[in-house]
Amino acid sequence: MSSERRTLGAAERARYHRHLLLPGFGEEGQLRLLEARVLVVGAGGLGCPASQYLVAAGVGTLGLADGDRVELSNLQRQILYGPADVGRPKVEVACERLRAINPDVVLEPFAERVTAANALELVSRYDVVVDGSDNFPTRYLLNDACVLLGKPLVYGAIFRFDGQASVFDSRRGPCYRCLHAQPPGPGEAPSCSEAGVLGVLPGLVGLVQATEALKLVAGLGEPLVGRLVHYDALGLRVAEFVLPKDPDCPACGERATIRDLREAEALCTGEMETMLPETTVEELEKRRRGGEELLLVDVREPQEYAIASIEGALLVPLGALASRLDELAAWKDRPIVVHCHHGGRSARAVELLAQRGFTRVENLKGGIDAWSLAIDPSVPRY
Ligand SMILES: [Zn+2]
Repeated sequence: MSSERRTLGAAERARYHRHLLLPGFGEEGQLRLLEARVLVVGAGGLGCPASQYLVAAGVGTLGLADGDRVELSNLQRQILYGPADVGRPKVEVACERLRAINPDVVLEPFAERVTAANALELVSRYDVVVDGSDNFPTRYLLNDACVLLGKPLVYGAIFRFDGQASVFDSRRGPCYRCLHAQPPGPGEAPSCSEAGVLGVLPGLVGLVQATEALKLVAGLGEPLVGRLVHYDALGLRVAEFVLPKDPDCPACGERATIRDLREAEALCTGEMETMLPETTVEELEKRRRGGEELLLVDVREPQEYAIASIEGALLVPLGALASRLDELAAWKDRPIVVHCHHGGRSARAVELLAQRGFTRVENLKGGIDAWSLAIDPSVPRY
């Protein structure tokens, strides 16, 4: 950092005046912020508020990585987007809004999903990574990349009414794998699209993450290293847990076995999905019309089924699948096609069924959404 070579201009002094007044922050702290490079992965519920405040506060360069497009169901909590943005790439819309908040910040949009192929190169360009992702493969991928590159990872997660946050910095504390060495198996951990989330909750957790990122780059206060903060919105209670470093951690322990991103890569659903047998909505329609006897299983939640369903589908929510296998026993060696909303949850269901000895299970590519778009427009999209 070359902060001593630079001083704040008049407009910067005015814009960041309230930072300059803070004890321990001052011009030196603001210059550190302006020199900093922060990567926010995920422009969703956590990434929107985190990037909004980091940009307003004057982080010099903000990278924003997300491969998704804005959906109507995002708007309840992803505050950078409005109804007119539905269908547009999230990073494109987000960067427009962020640029309007602070035109001096250099924005580096990355409109792709972070994968094992690009994670190391991407993470290596930043000082701090804020994890605003909503899935386990990305979380493990970012953790392993940050451990390998020696970068701090600001973790945040939300579930229904609960949130948690921590800072994983394996150089001076635990990493995410010290807490959970291996990811949950298919169907063991529902995502927000299945379990729901209170709209304001990611705002609070995302701002805890922004606070930690800002503290790390400005060298302020005591970072949330080796501690996990849990926030219960329903009871309005905050609890803090000490997180010890695990000496046997596969990523950062004394005999660490993870030396690259190959293990995390295997978790990435994209690759998992392409390895799974799948069928398209067009093929499914043709097969059903041709009289093929197949069982269509819908692994979404009952409230989703109430909005839209494919005729003849058997509803078995993913979380209940393992305990309801006896209902499918007659289909162990007969064709089963599994669908959900977009194909992610059903991929996990196909994997689970294959592990339990079902021999002819296929995933419906694109889920009921693709069915509605390509086959039956009378099925509502949501
Ligand atoms: Zn570790």
